[in-house]
Amino acid sequence: MERFEACTAHANAAGWEGRRWGRGRGAIAATSAALLLCLVVLVSIGGRKTSVLQEEGTDSKMEAAEKLAKWSKEVNDLEAEVKKFEVEANEKAVDELVHLAKVKDLLNQLKDQVPLEAPPKPWSYEGATGPDHWAELSSDYQLCGTGQQQSPINIELDLQQASLPSLGWVLPKDNAAVTTKTGDSALAGREFYNGHTFEVESLGSPTLLLGGVTYTLEQFHFHTPSEHKVAGRHYDMEMHFVHSAMVDGQKKLAVIAAFFEVGDNSPAFVKQLFETALPSVSSNPTALAPNLDFRGIAQEVLVGTVPTKLESANEFVPNFKNYFQYTGSLTTPPCTEGVTWVVLKNPVDITAADLSAIQNLEGKNSRPTQPLNGRVVLDVGGSTP
Ligand SMILES: [Zn+2]
Repeated sequence: MERFEACTAHANAAGWEGRRWGRGRGAIAATSAALLLCLVVLVSIGGRKTSVLQEEGTDSKMEAAEKLAKWSKEVNDLEAEVKKFEVEANEKAVDELVHLAKVKDLLNQLKDQVPLEAPPKPWSYEGATGPDHWAELSSDYQLCGTGQQQSPINIELDLQQASLPSLGWVLPKDNAAVTTKTGDSALAGREFYNGHTFEVESLGSPTLLLGGVTYTLEQFHFHTPSEHKVAGRHYDMEMHFVHSAMVDGQKKLAVIAAFFEVGDNSPAFVKQLFETALPSVSSNPTALAPNLDFRGIAQEVLVGTVPTKLESANEFVPNFKNYFQYTGSLTTPPCTEGVTWVVLKNPVDITAADLSAIQNLEGKNSRPTQPLNGRVVLDVGGSTP
């Protein structure tokens, strides 16, 4: 702007000179020439300025490139940091998963410790919640309806003979598995009514060797009438000794079943349990079974009551080597299969009064017999009950 005014002044001065010279045309030409000169100068100055601006632009571009490089580096650094966080987060997630797995293991262990038939569920032995409807009551009870290896069964007598080892419980040395007096031990012989059966657990963990597996006794309980039938016949009562073992991380079950029938006498343990324990039994598994001696139970059950009319003493074969064996299920929901059943052949006598005592407490609590579906029942000992 300043230069343009200076140019105009020059042009005017040239014009004035021209006018002073008195040659109008010449004055216009001089003014034009001055303006043209100025324009050239201006263009030249402008050009120079443009070239400076271009140089300045080059600098900016370089600066921008530098900035771009710097930013790219920052972005890369940030990306690397994000990746680092991701790795850390993954490691944390893995830690969390490991932790969760441990918690799950712990829960499963706790679940395994829950008594097998203890939790009262909305099932029963009659009507809409009876055995025919167990499978409909809960998805957990599916096997009660669809299982192909269910218990109990009717055992016919034309069976495959088998030679298997004698049965026997091993009692831990340091724990006599005995409650000598009520209140002596909080861990031996806890009794309770679980809503379906009278059950005694915490017996000092006797063990039983069966098929190469060492099982631990968890509890025993009673059913009236018997659940298993032999040649189509029920007994008056059946006692179940429920055992478990962990094999390759899987829980395996084995149940020893003993039959009872009304006779002149009851074994000592039945008298102790039913006369003294039953009247006070509750759903709370804290009461101790008074004077309970598992040795006495084992002896009575593993032999059976010797019949009074024996044609020959040699005909009687004690239960520990005289039993049926087959693969079945729990006889109560969830009807879990893969249970090894040992059904002792010789029944044990029980008085009518003792039988009534347990019937009054439990009512009828036996599941009907289930189809054999081609299963093999082994006859060990060969003696017909
Ligand atoms: Zn049972």
